[in-house]
Amino acid sequence: MSRKSFGGLDLFRFLAAFLVISIHVSPLSSLSSGADFFLTRILARLAVPFFFLVTGYFVLGRNTDGLRSARVRRFLLKTGLLYLFSIVLYLPFGLYAGHYEKLTAGVLLRMLLFDGTFYHLWYFPACILGVALTACLMRFLSGRTMVLAAGFLYLVGLFGDSWYGLAASVPALKALYDGLFQVSSYTRNGLFFAPLFLAIGAGLAGGFPRLPGGWSRLGFLSSFALMTAEAFLLRHFQMSRHDSMYLFLVPSAVFLFRLLLSADRKPSGRLRTASAWIYILHPAVLIVLRTAAKPLRLTWLLVENPLIQFLSVSLFSAAAAFFVTALLPVISGALPRSRNAQDTPEGSGRSRRRASGCRAWIELDLAALGHNAACLKGLLPEGCRLMPAVKADAYGHGALLIAGELNRLGIDAFCVACVSEGVRLRKHGISGEILILGYTHPSQFPLLARYGLTQTVVDFSYGERLNAFGRPLHVHVGIDTGMHRLGERSENLDRLRRIWQMEHLIIDGVFTHLCTADGQTEQEEQYVKKQADAFYHTVDELKMRGCPCPRLHLLSSYGLFRYPEYAEDYARVGIALYGILSDKKGTDSFGAALKPVLSLKARIAAVKKLRAGESAGYGIAYTAGTERSIAILTIGYADGLPRSLSCGKGHVLIKGRKAPILGRICMDQTIVDVTGIPDVKAGGPAILIGSWGKETVTACDWAEAAGTITNEILSRLGGRLERICPDFRHEPPGTRRASYGHTSHSGCKICRRRR
Ligand SMILES: *Cc1c(COP(=O)(O)O)cnc(C)c1O
Repeated sequence: MSRKSFGGLDLFRFLAAFLVISIHVSPLSSLSSGADFFLTRILARLAVPFFFLVTGYFVLGRNTDGLRSARVRRFLLKTGLLYLFSIVLYLPFGLYAGHYEKLTAGVLLRMLLFDGTFYHLWYFPACILGVALTACLMRFLSGRTMVLAAGFLYLVGLFGDSWYGLAASVPALKALYDGLFQVSSYTRNGLFFAPLFLAIGAGLAGGFPRLPGGWSRLGFLSSFALMTAEAFLLRHFQMSRHDSMYLFLVPSAVFLFRLLLSADRKPSGRLRTASAWIYILHPAVLIVLRTAAKPLRLTWLLVENPLIQFLSVSLFSAAAAFFVTALLPVISGALPRSRNAQDTPEGSGRSRRRASGCRAWIELDLAALGHNAACLKGLLPEGCRLMPAVKADAYGHGALLIAGELNRLGIDAFCVACVSEGVRLRKHGISGEILILGYTHPSQFPLLARYGLTQTVVDFSYGERLNAFGRPLHVHVGIDTGMHRLGERSENLDRLRRIWQMEHLIIDGVFTHLCTADGQTEQEEQYVKKQADAFYHTVDELKMRGCPCPRLHLLSSYGLFRYPEYAEDYARVGIALYGILSDKKGTDSFGAALKPVLSLKARIAAVKKLRAGESAGYGIAYTAGTERSIAILTIGYADGLPRSLSCGKGHVLIKGRKAPILGRICMDQTIVDVTGIPDVKAGGPAILIGSWGKETVTACDWAEAAGTITNEILSRLGGRLERICPDFRHEPPGTRRASYGHTSHSGCKICRRRR
């Protein structure tokens, strides 16, 4: 289940909104009453339970705090506001239709709590009541008991809904239900209808047994067939008082939900939001359309033809919904609806919850990572694949999260610097080829074999050591074409040829590294050409000597941008994948389309005043000229903040404003000047890298101020920082079994054992 993307849910949510419209318009009524019954009273009845399942899954899943859970509270608040908005929106319509004529306190309460103040608005109080009730009960009941209890409530509801005929034949029951209907006009409400689906949704998020996709499909088709039969039977015997609840609606909705959950489709916030607005707005659209039809003399078409009416209501509702969706961010101050981690200081819902206890933390925008990977893939010629560099904890980003997401995106080759990095990835289920670019001590060779890692042959004599290990090892041969770091010298053809003769080495690739790919001078560009020529020449010579060179690679990030003609089988991109290049100039030239993946945040520990003449920090390097407000941040040079940013060379963002670093950066803390920034409070966040409102600080800014490159800045972000992914809704890597993506190799014990 590691490949969940929730796109299926979003798509169906959108479709479900139209099913709801069909209930209110009966589009097929002029064609066949049976077909219309099937569409509006059976198929469309899947919509609301599906909404409840989604809510249970995302709002109540893994909840143990009841109503104290921030997620539950936020949901209740949001739904409450939408309800309030809808009440006000429909007030004129309701008044006009005479809905509120015999209004007593009891009737008002019944409307607000159960029936809704306009016919479709019952859904909101049902959602609020259902979520509140289920959240409370979940504190005391285990998942299964919860479902049983909610199931009992559902049964009670069922006999007041489509099975009412049976209950009504028992006088005592009839009296009971008739009493109930004084309080709530229907049983499809937050008490009897919603809790079961909410509880099952929560259970599915929390580890109820999962089924393979095939089973869900079979389960859905058979239970939906049974539900159809059930509904037609009840209709035939005139049993129903209402038709929202069926016995087989429960398995049908649950199987459908699981089916959609396993669909591999991109999630879409737009569809999600639009579907809610279609739901809210369609009755208004219906009324407006009916009213407008008269003066336009289109009544025969827009009102009397139900199919056309359905289509036009759907069309106009969708248009209105997308209009509102587009308008919302503008109304609410441009930012808050975005799920981009960089837009709000503490990220969106998920991250805020998870960051809430953090002292200093990194937020990863995995959507940006996916975007960058797609951009870079777009630069690759046919046959060339990405081999992301996830060394140094993925340039400080967190290698497990980054490689896990890249794996999920289908990338199955990585390079790391050392064996321990490779082992860590494997232990957390990262699959595919993992190439160790650097030196591995012979005492660690067993790890190469055990974890199916690919070692670089750093020169001829190292090849002999590897071979002496006596067991098959996968390797790429490094060729030194002029950087003079690792690799056997390209002109040593004889020594290279002898590497191919080493019986235990399985040579999967041959590579070199360019040392001036980022340089713009004539000399640097010539050097690249010289290195590449040497590489190709050596490869040709080796081939002529009967040494196959299966996969070739030369390029890292700058190389890929500037010399794509040398892209062979792999591009070992590092820095660009993280959304920036080594400096401002590089980022402006090549990285315009890329998005930074990382933002760095820390908490404000305290806010205080510094009187004129007082100093702050080690060495009293800062003295206040006038009275200042200062904030102490919970991050220091031990976390990777370069100490050279001290004394105003760097600044952070607080409340969307720049706060310069004041005095010397300490190991664990940093003092910043917040004079003139209103409302700065202890416990609040500060952004060190990222955006807040109109202000942005990038790793390039740091690099420039510290006299280095972004690669160093990022890769030194400390292990003490927490790494969180606001939108990481997949299961984190770590539970999957890795498969090792070696070239197939007959007789290779590693491949056979690991596959
Ligand atoms: C680090 C490294 C890379 C990745 O370099 P970027 O410039 O970050 O893309 C590629 N190849 C080798 C050999 C490396 O050491």
